[in-house]
Amino acid sequence: MSCSNPIDAAVLGDYWLGALPGPEEETTEAHLLGCGQCGDRLRDVIALAEGIRDLARGGSLRLIVSDTFLRLAAQEGLQVREYAPPPGGSVQCTVTAEDDILVARLAADLRDARRVDLSLCDWEGVEQFRLPDIPVHPGASGVVYQESITMAKGLPASRIMARLIAYNATGNERVLAEYRFIHTPSPGSLPPAQSEL
Ligand SMILES: [Zn+2]
Repeated sequence: MSCSNPIDAAVLGDYWLGALPGPEEETTEAHLLGCGQCGDRLRDVIALAEGIRDLARGGSLRLIVSDTFLRLAAQEGLQVREYAPPPGGSVQCTVTAEDDILVARLAADLRDARRVDLSLCDWEGVEQFRLPDIPVHPGASGVVYQESITMAKGLPASRIMARLIAYNATGNERVLAEYRFIHTPSPGSLPPAQSEL
């Protein structure tokens, strides 16, 4: 049996955390009692939330994450640091000892992309690392990339460029946007660097 009105993953997350307003909680509960499909999805959300602490403790993963993941992580008490450079622009960034999760929000128009790769490059655009075929939700306004916090905490002053690359139905490759990160190791130890762009 297929659910005709599946409960949003974000709502399931709030339901599990007891964060829904009363009436919505009751509606959600009533739906879950009669819908095995959404019940399965609730179990997925719980597994995701329970995996968050392990993930943060490990801290060495580079992956694409969802807003639901970040919200659950914050509600679990984890310190999330976010940067959102505009497409074609740059951002000054750092990481502190207190941070648990480090993410970059990369805004892009993904509508026509059959496949999207995230390429991490040096400042000149020479690729150092690539995440191929990253998960992209239909209608998403971009992707959220989690950098390894372990790696970031050990990073000296450096400049990194991220590039989103789309492939259309015929396999043609196209750069969607570039995003530049000007990283300073720890806050307060250096004067604020001026962008040299
Ligand atoms: Zn359902």
